[in-house]
Amino acid sequence: MGLESLLDEKKEGKKLKKLAANWSIEESENLYRISGWGDPYFAINAAGHITVSPHGDRGGSLDLLELVESLRKRKLGMPLLIRFSDILADRLERLNSCFAKAIARYKYPGTYQGVYPIKCNQQRHLVEALVNYGKPYQFGLEAGSKPELMIALATLPPQLDRNEKASRSLIICNGYKDREYLETALLAKRLGHRAIIVIDQPRELDWILHISQQLGIKPLLGIRAKLSTKGEGQDRTAVGDRAKFGLTVPEILAVVNRLEAVDRLDCLKLLHFHVGSQISNITVIKEAMREASQIYVQLAKLGAKMRYLNVGGGLAVDYDGSNTNFPASKNYNMQNYANDIVAAIQEACEQANVNAPTLISESGRAIAAHQSVLVFDVLGTNHIRHTPPEALGKKDHTIVQNLWEAYQGINPSNYQEAYHDAVQLKEEAISLFNFGYLSLTERAKVEQLYWACCRKILNITRNQDFVPEDVQDLEKLMASIYYVNLSVFQSAPESWSLNQLFPIMPIHRLNEEPRQRAILADLTCDSDGKIDRFIDLRDVKSCLELHDFRIPETHAKTPKTEEIEPYYLGMFLVGAYQEIMGNLHNLFGDINVVHIAMTPHGYQIESVVKGDTMNEVLSYVQYDAEDLLERMRRYSEKALADDHITLEESQRLLQDYEQSLRRYTYLVDDGL
Ligand SMILES: *Cc1c(COP(=O)(O)O)cnc(C)c1O
Repeated sequence: MGLESLLDEKKEGKKLKKLAANWSIEESENLYRISGWGDPYFAINAAGHITVSPHGDRGGSLDLLELVESLRKRKLGMPLLIRFSDILADRLERLNSCFAKAIARYKYPGTYQGVYPIKCNQQRHLVEALVNYGKPYQFGLEAGSKPELMIALATLPPQLDRNEKASRSLIICNGYKDREYLETALLAKRLGHRAIIVIDQPRELDWILHISQQLGIKPLLGIRAKLSTKGEGQDRTAVGDRAKFGLTVPEILAVVNRLEAVDRLDCLKLLHFHVGSQISNITVIKEAMREASQIYVQLAKLGAKMRYLNVGGGLAVDYDGSNTNFPASKNYNMQNYANDIVAAIQEACEQANVNAPTLISESGRAIAAHQSVLVFDVLGTNHIRHTPPEALGKKDHTIVQNLWEAYQGINPSNYQEAYHDAVQLKEEAISLFNFGYLSLTERAKVEQLYWACCRKILNITRNQDFVPEDVQDLEKLMASIYYVNLSVFQSAPESWSLNQLFPIMPIHRLNEEPRQRAILADLTCDSDGKIDRFIDLRDVKSCLELHDFRIPETHAKTPKTEEIEPYYLGMFLVGAYQEIMGNLHNLFGDINVVHIAMTPHGYQIESVVKGDTMNEVLSYVQYDAEDLLERMRRYSEKALADDHITLEESQRLLQDYEQSLRRYTYLVDDGL
């Protein structure tokens, strides 16, 4: 089914409509694996649009395309990050209910009391929402730095009621600490915060003891252990002897001895470990739990008044929906995770006759990833033209003739050989051209024929069960480029820095067959600003199936933007880590963010956080907008005086310049 170019596609419009009718939304579901990674929040409706069900299977859903269109009517430009706070609430509930079930199942005498690690996504709306949803579960916060500690202390309301003395929700204080950090964490106890200072490095203990003595406040202490279990997650250095944080067993013992010597062993309440993020393989968690549980019971036996076991983060997200131990996936579910944690510590405590601890986990990714959807539009496409030349000239060089014959002769039994021939002929032709033996017209025919061969071969391979490796690359070689209104450096930093995969798919037209295979190119001028790895059932695929980008009938003129039918893509599960690690490469700034909340009758826009204007982005790199504008004014006055520009032109230039400064850094669609 070789549809040659956009023009040909127009001619074949009727045929296309028929084809579309042969494509079902089930086929889209399978192709994009949406139930694998999206269940229960994302699905496809009968109109072929993505629907979002923020409460999962407990009802209430919205049509994502309709939402995007209504947001555009509110002058919110693309790209757009949409946050569903109800998904956040649902994730939190699920995590708590999985632990509750595990605790019931194993008749575990302790409880579960999680914390949210702020570093995963520090945005105020999100942290505040989590604190709010977390109230029934006494969910707390984890800080990994001084600024995060400041967020935690002011966001989580402390309790000073007489019975409790301190809030039950915990604040876990991790990361590098200085005097100010420690003093703040200790004094926060006076407000009613239950802030546990985790000793991450051996030298911290002396400071803590010193400052707490000065203040006359007894600290709540934890120790982060360096486990020998091998992590397989994203930050592989989180465990093992050379890990950045944590204490080795001899160092832990030294801390215990020191605390005992100063009569403070009763302050040690918590054992913490963190094996890394996105742990795909449940065996890593099981093993870490065995090791940590033993350390825990031994600490209790040494006389520490142990009360908490903090199992850190690592609970993974199934980005590719394959349910495997592939890095973008996980071979377990949240319930398995909770079961394994509860079972391991239960067994160790029973054997050693030690009181069962309150369990803490610091799941960031698993709580925050699902709630954000990044929606962006396609700006244009670039396809490889693969129509063979209409006719060869009699005088065309023999190499052109040879390639023509090669093209004619391609069939399912010789396609591999034909491919090698085509590659070789093209290379020879280029040498001939470089030495002046081939005209520009001939070279153009060679390239056309070469791509025509590739296309013909590709069409054959798509029907083969087995395709030789050297021919497999053709799919990638022939992929179209879809230019998207987005900076991957700003909005999907892990996709280029860590090769993290995110599910990407169109949010509409899912009842039409996607007939293009494409890679995505972003707005930056950086050649890394692209996405060419996509989720697949096995491994990773190099192109994404997309629909034709429809251009209006008026081919003669440049189409007006409003005549182009928008084509929207969604990148899903981007709520964890992407926002804060994004950078200003090429000065594309923060994007527009909207918060959507479900209501009994539908949904409402809770808040809008406008993306950066050029003004703001320029000020991050120390430019002053007024100053820039003033200079432009001076230059245009000079050009005006020298008669190089008319007054109208100079006014127009300054007006555009001034207006741009106030605008979003991404492409604005206000017509050409
Ligand atoms: C990053 C981090 C987490 C969060 O990990 P997730 O895999 O996102 O759940 C938890 N604890 C510590 C100490 C971390 O550094």
